[in-house]
Amino acid sequence: MFKLVANFHFNVTRLLLHVSIGVRLLSLMGLAALVALLLAIVGIQGLAASKESLRSVYEDRMLPVQKLAEISQLMLANRLLLQTSLSEVSIVANPDQQATLLMNRALALKTADEIEKNIETIGSLWQVFTSSPLASRENELANSFTSSREAYVSGALLPAVAALRTDQYHEAKLMSARAQLLFDQARPDLKALNQLQFDAAHASYSNAVNRYESTRFMALGALGMAIVVMSWLGMMLTWSIVNPLKQVIAIFRKISQGRYDTTITTEGKDEISMVMRALGDMQSKLGVHEAAIHQLAFFDPLTRLPNRRLLRDRLQRALSMSTRTHLYGAVLMIDLDNFKSINDSRGHDVGDLLLVEVASRIRSCIRQSDTVARLGGDEFIILLLDLNLDEAQAALLAESVGEKILQAIHQHLVLDKQLHHPSASMGLCLFTGQNASIDDLLKRADISMYQAKSSGRNALRFYDPQVQASLETHIALEAELRDALPGNQLQLYYQIQMDNVHGVLGAEVLLRWMHPTHGLVLPDQFISIAEESGLIVPIGEWVLQTACEQLKAWERDPRAEKLLLSVNVSARQFRQADFVAMVSGVLKQTGVNPQRLKLELTESLVLHNIVDTVDKMKALNCHGIHFSMDDFGTGYSSLAHLTTLPIQQLKIDRSFVRNIASNRNDAIIVQTIIGMANNLGVAVIAEGVEDEEQRACLERFGCPSYQGYLCGKPMPLLEFEELAMRVITV
Ligand code: C2E
Ligand code: CA
Ligand code: CA
Repeated sequence: MFKLVANFHFNVTRLLLHVSIGVRLLSLMGLAALVALLLAIVGIQGLAASKESLRSVYEDRMLPVQKLAEISQLMLANRLLLQTSLSEVSIVANPDQQATLLMNRALALKTADEIEKNIETIGSLWQVFTSSPLASRENELANSFTSSREAYVSGALLPAVAALRTDQYHEAKLMSARAQLLFDQARPDLKALNQLQFDAAHASYSNAVNRYESTRFMALGALGMAIVVMSWLGMMLTWSIVNPLKQVIAIFRKISQGRYDTTITTEGKDEISMVMRALGDMQSKLGVHEAAIHQLAFFDPLTRLPNRRLLRDRLQRALSMSTRTHLYGAVLMIDLDNFKSINDSRGHDVGDLLLVEVASRIRSCIRQSDTVARLGGDEFIILLLDLNLDEAQAALLAESVGEKILQAIHQHLVLDKQLHHPSASMGLCLFTGQNASIDDLLKRADISMYQAKSSGRNALRFYDPQVQASLETHIALEAELRDALPGNQLQLYYQIQMDNVHGVLGAEVLLRWMHPTHGLVLPDQFISIAEESGLIVPIGEWVLQTACEQLKAWERDPRAEKLLLSVNVSARQFRQADFVAMVSGVLKQTGVNPQRLKLELTESLVLHNIVDTVDKMKALNCHGIHFSMDDFGTGYSSLAHLTTLPIQQLKIDRSFVRNIASNRNDAIIVQTIIGMANNLGVAVIAEGVEDEEQRACLERFGCPSYQGYLCGKPMPLLEFEELAMRVITV
């Protein structure tokens, strides 16, 4: 039974899901209205029936009873009237001496009138009674009473009335006795009729009471049933809305917690089912979108490898894990060799294909638990976990994996119908526990990767703390160098240049950095930093400006007015688009004679973009400025190039001067350079001349001009002026 009810309940619930909520509510309201209507009809009908029965008790039964009672009363009154009038008599002796009884005349007449009136009233009452519908038994009794009343009236009462009027005492008395007799005969009919009316009235009354009871019972029963049915229906309806709504809320909660795996099955067609289906669609779309967002946020779109963010997360976990296990792990940084040129020459599509291939080659060399990530460009990071408890063993393992990866990358491949031999440089550092931060590890791997790169590519290098220390110094110096110029920490030193024939020529200005804590810093330690950071541009301008101001100052002194100054120009500075404008601006502003200024350029600078270089040099030549080719002999400038360059001096590099007296090769090189200069018609000067032997050699070879410790180290201005004056006056 319970199963049956449960089944029914389940089926109704399912059925309800196919009906819209609006229709469900309307149906329930309609049903409630119908039930109320039926109840009202039943009640009204029952009440009407009861009312009819009660009305019939009173009108159909009690009124005739009243009539019959009145008739009976009147008949009784007649009897009393007759008796009263007959009792008041007087005795008169008539001539025959016989006593004659005489009635009270007035009373007799009055009684006669009243009896006539009563007869009339009885007649009309009886007519009223008989005009109402009568049952057969009643009819029988009425007929009988009609005839007995007829006999009573016409056979007794009317003769009695006549006797009363005519003063016939005996006749009146006789008729009175007869009337009494006839009344007694008619009375049972009247009584029986009365009884019948009472019985009928009682039946009607009982009927009314029964009807009332049955109506009440029916109405209460129907009401009870309706309440049960309506409550059940209401409950079903509420469940059919509330339960699915609860499901909807639960799904929403899960979605808000980022869970998109709820199975949503609904066959219903109502509003909530529609919401559920829409929710299902939304859930699956959100799931897809979240997966896409996750993919975008944590993976590189090209190679599908973890990106920097995910790598950091994995590194963090690896560090925590290693703290617990004490096992060494390793971070390997890979950078493809010459990737930029492949990308530039073969196009980005080919570059992308190479990256995808390299990614898959790296992945094939590592374990599932290890991570390979792409940091962007052609940089990959590999995270090797749980290598060994022993550092040396871990290093061996990491190295073998690294070599394997490098070999895998080095396999040739065809990209867009062209054969490629990719190679990579790899930096490697080990880690254990929390001895280094993620940034430290990445930096170490990066540093060692650059070491591998500069050691000739397709190589692997372990992290070297010394290299890092020098790099850190480099970084710190760069930061401090920014303050050098505004902080007046830069200074020019002057190194005298001599000529055996002409005496003092002038000087080369050499930059010095008076560091607030390190003291004097030489150019070898900071010029390359200034180059990389671009600081060489303002610094170089300052050097030129200061040198020119110095030349201008010397112009006022006849002993110094002929001095020349050589200023070093770095490649980055020279390649500034406004270099020529800057130099001519300084010349103009200081008003110095450009003939006294010499710019030193290196071979590599000149050869880089020879057309642009020659243009700039010619433009400056036009201003009267001379050029000297610094460190000459160390570069690769050919004679053909030299002839096209508007240079006025070659400066023999000090590496050839050092062993000029002892090394035949160096002597030959120096002689060749001097010969070249003579052939080209340009001046020549040697640098790094430390002793007399070297100077004598140079002089013998035909180079009388020189610069070097022999006659003076680079020195501050005042010392230089002192030296120069001393030499000039000698
Ligand atoms: P450089 O132009 O070849 O300058 C000559 C270098 O040789 C100077 O080193 C000088 O001190 C050194 N020197 C001179 N005579 C001798 C000698 O007899 N024996 C030895 N062993 N060395 C000698 P410094 O001053 O340390 O300058 C190094 C380099 O820094 C310069 O080489 C130059 O390339 C660069 N430099 C210096 N000042 C400036 C500057 O103002 N601007 C730019 N762009 N570069 C500069
Ligand atoms: Ca120089
Ligand atoms: Ca030099």
